[in-house]
Amino acid sequence: MANIINRVGGKLKKVTRKVQKKFNSRGLILMYHSIGEEASDAWSLRVRPKHFEEHMEVFRKLGHPLSLSELYKSIQAGEVPDRSITITFDDGYYNNLQLGKPILEKYDVPATVFVTTSFVEHGLSYWWDELEYALMSPGQLPDQLTLRLNGNEHHWDLNSAATFTEEQAKKENLPRPWLGEEGTRCHFHFSVWAALQDYLPAEQRALVKQVVDWAGIPTPELKEPFRPMTPEELHILEKDNLVSIGAHTVHHPMLGRHSAEIQSREILQSKEYLETVLNHPVKHFAYPFGNYNDDTEGILEKGDFDCACSTQQEAVWKKSERYFLPRMEATDLSGEEMEETLETLFKC
Ligand SMILES: [Zn+2]
Repeated sequence: MANIINRVGGKLKKVTRKVQKKFNSRGLILMYHSIGEEASDAWSLRVRPKHFEEHMEVFRKLGHPLSLSELYKSIQAGEVPDRSITITFDDGYYNNLQLGKPILEKYDVPATVFVTTSFVEHGLSYWWDELEYALMSPGQLPDQLTLRLNGNEHHWDLNSAATFTEEQAKKENLPRPWLGEEGTRCHFHFSVWAALQDYLPAEQRALVKQVVDWAGIPTPELKEPFRPMTPEELHILEKDNLVSIGAHTVHHPMLGRHSAEIQSREILQSKEYLETVLNHPVKHFAYPFGNYNDDTEGILEKGDFDCACSTQQEAVWKKSERYFLPRMEATDLSGEEMEETLETLFKC
């Protein structure tokens, strides 16, 4: 019985919250990753520069661009300006500076870039891009892949996925890699990526190297805009104060799958690194993959972060919790499509 009462009580709370939200002003936090023309984009992370500029035009026309610090302050004051729009970027791609910042400046739209620090510190390309380059480039791959590390073994029979023509590459350019049907290259790529997720960073890098060597592709030549920024470029990015920098862990793990100790290291060391490089406090955080567990919030509090962004796809309002600010994913929509979806998003 207590269970039924709890369940009914929980449902009522949800409904009440929905009704309350309906009559309260709301804003949106948008999550971008990368700006570029690259054709291969297995994760739908890239927005073409032309579309990014159209988005900014739409935001100026239909909303009120607001920085993450301003949004945080207004939530603390118990109010979110209606139709406020807050732009964020995850990971720290160089194209955020090269292609994104000039457009942000043109429309005077503030943004926060969440940086994964090990890639910046060591000048390494993002391992998921290397994996995508090795597995999703058109061409023939061997029939079988076996990865071995520390006594673990992963094996794949590629069968029909060994062949990947230009036509198939176009056809399999799906919005999400997990949507690929079994036997397709897209499905194989996702399966290898998922197997690597459970490893520690150094192990992931060793495994990606095994995949790259097996695929017979020399060190992937990722195009310039898709590399991480250097520490000097982080300075240039935040010069003039239109763009601010937040932390996004050291290695980009799924935090919720790790111990509190590893999470602490990942979160606090990324903050410390950025504060040393930038010489000022870093107060904002974004969870890689939007993933966390019961230990994570306490670590953010201990690290004296003001707020953190999740990937919960809904609008932000005055009662949004500061360590779980919802964020909408921004994809490569045209300005017109963005205008249409913006109206829907404000109602979420
Ligand atoms: Zn990320």
